[in-house]
Amino acid sequence: MDPITPTDPQPIPATASGRRTALVTGVAGQDGVYLARHLLSLGYHVVGTLRPGSRWAPSTLGRAYAYLDGVELVDLDQRDHEGWAAVLEGLQPHEIYNLAGFSSVGASWGHAEVVAETNGLAVLRMLEELVAFRDRHGWSPRFFQPSSSEMFGISDQQPQTENTPHHPRSPYAASKSFAHHLTVNYRESYGLFTATGTLYNHESPLRGGQFVTRKITRSVAEIALGRRDEVVLGNLDVRRDWGFAGDYAVAMHRMLQLDEPQDFIVATGTSRPLSAVLDVAFAAAGLGSSEGYLRQDPAFMRPADVVDLVGDPTKAREQLGWTPSVTFEQVIEHMVRVDTARLATGVEDSVDYLLP
Ligand code: GDP
Repeated sequence: MDPITPTDPQPIPATASGRRTALVTGVAGQDGVYLARHLLSLGYHVVGTLRPGSRWAPSTLGRAYAYLDGVELVDLDQRDHEGWAAVLEGLQPHEIYNLAGFSSVGASWGHAEVVAETNGLAVLRMLEELVAFRDRHGWSPRFFQPSSSEMFGISDQQPQTENTPHHPRSPYAASKSFAHHLTVNYRESYGLFTATGTLYNHESPLRGGQFVTRKITRSVAEIALGRRDEVVLGNLDVRRDWGFAGDYAVAMHRMLQLDEPQDFIVATGTSRPLSAVLDVAFAAAGLGSSEGYLRQDPAFMRPADVVDLVGDPTKAREQLGWTPSVTFEQVIEHMVRVDTARLATGVEDSVDYLLP
């Protein structure tokens, strides 16, 4: 594998139909669903991977049925190097969005090795395989790697930019930092078209229940319906830059349409305290304020936490023409509405739950 100059052209062969193929790993996750639907709306042939064994799990089945009509589904473990090589060679996609992975910061301490393999080593193997593919075919698919604001950890720079140094504070953040630097290196060393988007927290009704926004909207909906009487949280003294997942999917796609691959921060540019999520959620459920409903439990505290993160999205705005279309308040209010509807109807997944 001889390094080539990063400026080598990477022509992508045209298909007879002119239809482009996108491979989305982890397509049943929150980001996978929003991105796959966006790509379908743009006319792509979309192939998505599922973790082997998850296809018939009720949660995946529900999601696939409700949201992924038109997406071709393939079973693939992120850590399966040979399986990845076979999918790549068989499909020869124009674009790859690597959205599969271990996404929970809180749970990453208890599963550090799996996190390192899934979020770190698996990306290294994918990139190696892309170099081998390029050597065989003379071109290679464009590759998007979702990096994480958590990589910045305790940063003395607010807001963070594309040039802010990393100081990861969890096994999750360390694995994302490893994959981020490799993705940049394989671009610089081998001339692959690889782009990273450092994504700040992005939420939607499809967010997993272990994340703090969804935990709050679900609990608040249950309180409003008289099925619970408190929200139990860990560290209340944190701030995050929370946006809407559907907007972040649009940014991912735009990054792979550039003439030259680059790295971007994807954020709203505003950080808010956790209390703001509580305020909006309780008001949306018609409960007034969270006073009297909140309990802190050390069980939800982390061995190390990240106090405040806020991203500077200037480069994304200027070079991708990207700005968020949904406000923080709109996404939290919508999540409360959807969680209330879920509890009332028993329907966990519906296209009506997605914001446009
Ligand atoms: P993260 O930013 O990717 O870790 O997203 P999360 O939604 O999991 O957590 C955001 C912040 O909320 C972190 O600083 C957590 O420590 C804090 N937090 C406080 N209570 C909770 C809780 O009960 N669950 C979770 N997941 N986070 C909590």
